[in-house]
Amino acid sequence: MRHVPVLIVGGSLVGLSASLFLRHHGVPHLLIDKHRGSASHPRAMGFTETTLEHYRACGIADRIPQADPGARLRRVTVATLFGDWIAETEWTPGEPAQRSAALSPCTGAAIAQDKLEPILRAAALEAGAEMNLGVELISLIQDDARATATVRNRNDGAEEIITADWVIACDGANSTIRDGLGISRSGVGHLRTLRSVLFHCPDADAVLDRGAQQFEIKQAGFNAFLTTYGDGRWVLMFDDDQERDTDELKEAVLRALGRELPFEIITTGRWELAGRIADRYREGRVFLAGDAAHQLPPTRGGFGANTGIDDVWNLSWKLAAVLQGMAADRLLDTYHAERHAIGWLRHQQTFSRPDYAKWAPATFKPEPLLANDAMEFGQLNRSMAVVGAGPELPAAATPKEWAGQPGTRAPHVWEQGASGTRSTLDLFGKAYVLLSANRAWIELAQRLQVVSVLVGQDFVFPDEQPFAAVFDIKDAGATLVRPDGVIAWRSDAQPDAVAQDAIDQLIAARA
Ligand SMILES: Cc1cc2nc3c(=O)[nH]c(=O)nc-3n(C[C@H](O)[C@H](O)[C@H](O)COP(=O)(O)OP(=O)(O)OC[C@H]3O[C@@H](n4cnc5c(N)ncnc54)[C@H](O)[C@@H]3O)c2cc1C
Repeated sequence: MRHVPVLIVGGSLVGLSASLFLRHHGVPHLLIDKHRGSASHPRAMGFTETTLEHYRACGIADRIPQADPGARLRRVTVATLFGDWIAETEWTPGEPAQRSAALSPCTGAAIAQDKLEPILRAAALEAGAEMNLGVELISLIQDDARATATVRNRNDGAEEIITADWVIACDGANSTIRDGLGISRSGVGHLRTLRSVLFHCPDADAVLDRGAQQFEIKQAGFNAFLTTYGDGRWVLMFDDDQERDTDELKEAVLRALGRELPFEIITTGRWELAGRIADRYREGRVFLAGDAAHQLPPTRGGFGANTGIDDVWNLSWKLAAVLQGMAADRLLDTYHAERHAIGWLRHQQTFSRPDYAKWAPATFKPEPLLANDAMEFGQLNRSMAVVGAGPELPAAATPKEWAGQPGTRAPHVWEQGASGTRSTLDLFGKAYVLLSANRAWIELAQRLQVVSVLVGQDFVFPDEQPFAAVFDIKDAGATLVRPDGVIAWRSDAQPDAVAQDAIDQLIAARA
C-alpha cells in the first residue's frame, strides 16, 4: 500500500494537464491510465487561447505550434473536397470568426491530440510528475480520512492499493468513478452515434491553401464531414452509425475527396454525440474533470477538451492551497460552484448554436448566443472565492464590458519594457497577486505576504490602456488576482483594517 496527496485517474488531455498544473504548484501526485499512450484515432485538434495561456503560465506554450494570428478556422459546404464552396458556416451568426488578437498574449493552436499529449506528458514528467501507465483503476472508496483505490497493472495483472488525500477523475465520458459515486448527469443526453474513418492523404493538404479546414460534404445520398489534423491525416465523419468494410470505407473516402488521390486507411472510430453535465463536480475527496464532468460535442469553440483543461487549471491551485495548509477545505467547494456553472453555460451555448441546435430535442430551450470573446475570455466565476460576483451579473460578457470585474479573468495588456514585452497575465499563475498604484496597498500586501505589483513601477501600463481603465480601479484602489488569473476582489478605497481582514479571509477561505 502507498499513499499520495493526489491521485489522477486518466492520462489523456485533461489528466495530463492536471498533472502539469499540479507540478506547477509543487503538488506531488500520481497519475494512472489504463493505456500506455495516446489513442490511435485522435479526437481534439482545436485548442483555444485560454488553454494556451495556461500552458504559457507553466512555461511550455512555445513547445506547442501556435496558430498564425491571422488564421481563422473556416467550415464550408462542398460536394467534394476539391469542389466549389457552396456555403460557409458561421460559428456564431453575426460574430467575426476570428477573435481579437489584442485580448490574449496567445493565439490558439491546431495540433492533433496524439501530438499534444506527448508534449504534456514530457513536460509534466520533467516537472517531477509520477505516472503509472498501463494501470487501471478497479475500484475507489472513500471515507473521512482518505480515498482508497485498487489498481491493476495490465501488463502483469498485479494489483495494488493506493490511498490518496484527493482524487481527480479524468477518466472520460464513461467515467466509472462518476458512476460509482452515483453522480447523475443532466442535459440533452444522447443524440446520435457517428462513425469515422481516419486516413493518411498528404496530397489532400493542397486544398488547405484555399483557407478552409472543415468541409461539410453534401451529395445526393451521401452526407459527411471531412476535416484534417494538419499533418496529412484526414478524418471523414459519417452521418450515421453504419459499420463499413474496407472497400466501402475506401469508396466513401474517394467520394468525399472527389479525386483519385493515393491514401491509406489508418483506423476507424465510433463517437457519441451527446450533451451531459454531471450534477456534482465534487463528492467528498473526489473531483470530476474533463469529459467525466461534461460531455459536449466538438464545436468550433472547442468546448470539449478546452473546458476540461480549464477545469483542472481552476482546481490545481485550490488543491495546492489546501494541501500546503494555506486554505481551508471549503475552498475546494468552489470548484463545483464555479466550474459546474461554466459547464452548463457551455452546454446551453453549444445546443443553441445552429450547427447543433438541429440535433437538440424539442424540449431544449435555446438561449441567446453570447459573443465569442465573452465565451472565451469573459466567463464569470461565482463562488465564495470571489467577492462581488453576484447573481445579478450575466454568466459571460466581453473583457471590455467586464473591465476588471471580480470573478472574471484578469485582462491582458502588453508592457513594452526595455528587456522586451510582457503580458499582465505573466504576473499571475502561481500565487495571489495584488496590483495597485498606491504604495499603501503594496505595504499591506507585504504585511499579508501577498505578492504585490506596484503599477507604474513593477508593471507599466501603456498610455492608451491605463491600469485604472482596464481594471476599472480608482488611483487609490487595488485589485487582487487569484493564482489562476481570476480577479478575486477589488477596492476603490485606501486600505484599512476591514480590507485587510477581507483579503486575509479570502485567501485562507475562512468563513
Ligand atoms: C471527433 C472529435 C473531435 C473533437 N475535437 C475537439 C477539439 O477540437 N477541441 C476540443 O476542445 N475538444 C474536442 N473534442 C472533445 C475532446 O476530445 C474531449 O473533450 C477530450 O478528449 C476529453 O479529455 P479527457 O481527458 O477528459 O477524457 P478522455 O480523452 O476520454 O480520456 C480519458 C482517459 O481516462 C483513461 N481511463 C478511463 N478509465 C480508466 C480507468 N478505470 N483506469 C485508468 N484509466 C482510465 C482512458 O484510458 C483515457 O486515457 C473532440 C471530440 C471528438 C469525438
